[in-house]
Amino acid sequence: MTAKRFSGMWVLALGALAVLGLVCGRAQAQFDSPVEKKWTVQEKDDNGEVKDVLYMSLDGVLVHEEDPAKAPQPRVVTPGTPSTQAQPGTAPSDAVVLFDGKDLANWSAEDGEKTKWVVENGVMQPTKDSGMIRSKGEYGSCQLHVEFQTPAPPEGEGQGRGNSGVFLMGQYEVQVLDSFENTTYPDGQAGALYGRKPPLVNACLKPGEWQCYDIVFHRPVFDESGKVVKRATFTIFHNGVLIQDHYDLSGGNGWVGPHAVTDYVAHGDKGPIMLQDHGNPVRFRNIWLRELAD
Ligand code: MG
Repeated sequence: MTAKRFSGMWVLALGALAVLGLVCGRAQAQFDSPVEKKWTVQEKDDNGEVKDVLYMSLDGVLVHEEDPAKAPQPRVVTPGTPSTQAQPGTAPSDAVVLFDGKDLANWSAEDGEKTKWVVENGVMQPTKDSGMIRSKGEYGSCQLHVEFQTPAPPEGEGQGRGNSGVFLMGQYEVQVLDSFENTTYPDGQAGALYGRKPPLVNACLKPGEWQCYDIVFHRPVFDESGKVVKRATFTIFHNGVLIQDHYDLSGGNGWVGPHAVTDYVAHGDKGPIMLQDHGNPVRFRNIWLRELAD
């Protein structure tokens, strides 16, 4: 090898490293950041002294802007009331109320026909072989509040005790199970994203007590070829305790066998909320959601 060729190879290698550095640098810098500008203005302080004051704008809006034409005030939402064991609470003023204890007008059977689930004393529950219940409305990214009560006294063990499920977009299951002193595989216990992610902690109340999930769900996004380009994310509070912390769902989570779950399969922007009939009389009340931007 001549000295000339040798140095030429070094130039190529260094060039490749530089390109790699640029690419990596770019990859590391992929935050969803606003355009930030900074400038200084000479202003008099309270003592009359002229000083440089730093100004910043984020996406063209001055930090601490007070002009509503430039920085609109957030929309006003009247919060709902909290639930107690004896009494369900109410939904925030901008929520879509799916079930408030009156009837199943917002629900149907899986096939769109009349559901066999029933309402008694303000709560809804499946009947024998009634199958899943689905909301008539379809939703994508949302904040979902669901209250449930597993049967007391408990019957069965493991996956057979108080099993139901809350399905976002008709397919991404947040497991409902009586996991109070009832062990099963962690990725199938209460609050698990079934088969994909156990809850961070077990925050179950005793069977027969009303519990709630507050779920912040962002739907997955697919490209034209059907490839997932943005995964679904879940943040979940179970009885007020954080059990899923902005978890990035690695695939679908439908059951396809004792040790396997589905992968992502492209679907539309919206789908129904569904509740599972797993043969256990799990009861539900106070179900509402707020639609969110993706
Ligand atoms: Mg289930």
